[in-house]
Amino acid sequence: MANKKKLLVVGGVAGGASCAARARRLSEEADIIIFERGPYVSFANCGLPYYVGNVIKEEEDLLVATPELFRERFNIEVRLENEVLSIDRHKRQIEVHNLNRNTVYNESYDALVLAPGSAPFRPPLQGIDLEGILTLRTIPDSRQMKQWIEERKVKRVVVVGGGFIGLEMTENLANLGLDVTVLEASDQLMPPIDPEMAAPLHDHLITKKITLNLGHAVTEFEQNPDGSIVVHTSAGAKHVAELVILAIGVRPETGLARAAGLEIGERGGIRVDDQMRTSDKHIWAVGDAIEVRDFILDQWTTLPLAGPANRQGRIAADVIFGRNARFRGTQGTAICKAFDMTVAITGASEKMLKRCGISNKPARFEKIYLHPGHHAGYYPGAKPITIKLIFSTEDGKILGAQATGESGVAKRIDVMATAIQMGATVFDLEEAELCYAPQYGTAKDPINIAGMIAANALRGDAPLIHWNNVHPDKHTILDVREPDEFNADHLEGAVNIPLGQLRQKTGELNRDGEILTYCAVGQRSYYASRMLRQCGFKVRNVSGGYKSLVAYESVGMGPE
Ligand code: FAD
Repeated sequence: MANKKKLLVVGGVAGGASCAARARRLSEEADIIIFERGPYVSFANCGLPYYVGNVIKEEEDLLVATPELFRERFNIEVRLENEVLSIDRHKRQIEVHNLNRNTVYNESYDALVLAPGSAPFRPPLQGIDLEGILTLRTIPDSRQMKQWIEERKVKRVVVVGGGFIGLEMTENLANLGLDVTVLEASDQLMPPIDPEMAAPLHDHLITKKITLNLGHAVTEFEQNPDGSIVVHTSAGAKHVAELVILAIGVRPETGLARAAGLEIGERGGIRVDDQMRTSDKHIWAVGDAIEVRDFILDQWTTLPLAGPANRQGRIAADVIFGRNARFRGTQGTAICKAFDMTVAITGASEKMLKRCGISNKPARFEKIYLHPGHHAGYYPGAKPITIKLIFSTEDGKILGAQATGESGVAKRIDVMATAIQMGATVFDLEEAELCYAPQYGTAKDPINIAGMIAANALRGDAPLIHWNNVHPDKHTILDVREPDEFNADHLEGAVNIPLGQLRQKTGELNRDGEILTYCAVGQRSYYASRMLRQCGFKVRNVSGGYKSLVAYESVGMGPE
């Protein structure tokens, strides 16, 4: 009778709904009830910014499933507008507030799954509760935002926070014709990625007429007599808008778990084991509310993303019904679109590695940059992608990858994500067999090229250097681009010998000391470095070429 259990699930969206549905697939006999505080079950939180921006036209398109569907298809009872108030672990029952009838009742369980998600962070700043300072989590939030924009005839919006939700809102509000100012406390957008990888995104937003204020933390809000809001920043600036969107991160909803005495981790999420079990063996927890293990950095982290929440829900159900499923931990794979640009990351960033004490001095990891086309250059419409690959110098294991570009970013980061989860090395990337036709890639896909550059560096065939370590007074800097490219812009102190003339002109180069080669993106200079090394010169290629220099300079990444 192991399958005849009473399973209660708190929270009916990503983690909760997938847990309940999986549970039914494992047990026809179980009683399964979902308790959801809000008016909807299983709705598309990830679609909300696009509903506000009228890309998704109908509210009902956001409803992935309904209580009727859960009942008819899965024999699962969904109790909407029923908020779970507390857990009595001793009696194994929960106390529930039926918000419609305003009644409180108890429900007993054999297994309880907590999937309450996370709440947008509202810092305790002066004026934070003023009308018109909104956050986005639920369908009613998005409806309120749309109404506010229409009724108040909003023209100016301040978006506080330049992460995933902030960027998605920025794009959608700008596409509605509104004037958008982004305030971001740190020096870069998209905090999970490294600053030089965010540089193209900064430029892109500016080309889209977004007012971008990096290094501006909000200090207080005040209201003008006409109802508009003045947003004060740490940089002494004031921005006036009719609408302020707060998108400065989320906090795990741990109220129920804390009150029940369940263990809470150092990052503020519910602590679970790799089978999603909390410190109580009858209670599981999944999704935004929990802490998970980052298997690259080997530390606890919170990860408010839909994919892990869904997988964890499934794993919890498997374990409850006797299977030996385990969550492998996270590597933080994420993607975001802002206007025409896509930004994606998987695994560790360079700054996180350094923050965790994994130093690149002496080098325990190395990084490379490349800027290939997303498909064959001869086929119309190829767009450049910028890729950063980080790998272990000990065994070539891939530690992380980031990419930005207009097209083909998701494909590359997904391949990298899969490779990382399988423990692959840069040598595996060299050999990866990926689909190719000119519309989709290149015969040597950017993934292969990334692997080759990294493997060349590790094998000592093509040693690399990065722009922050390039010092014209210490090295001979050789620019192998064509004269017109050189004349348009170059690193001060660089010598220009185009690649096509280099074989004839090696006599002009100083054999003492080291030569650093660069070109536009690092490819011609790689050829140059191989030629010169075979002629006995000591050479390193500057990774990513001039394009990476521009990114480094724009975020102030000077010599280390
Ligand atoms: P949720 O999906 O938030 O569900 C939790 C539910 O629990 C809520 O409906 C809440 O009402 C209910 N609840 C809480 N407490 C109680 C209680 N005591 N009693 C009853 N019910 C309760 N992730 C991505 O991977 N990609 C994206 O593009 C993306 N875009 C996003 C855009 C927006 C605007 C938002 C808000 C999130 C986005 N996310 C995205 C994050 C993703 O939606 C979450 O990581 C995911 O939904 C988490 O699932 P969850 O089950 O833990 O929590």
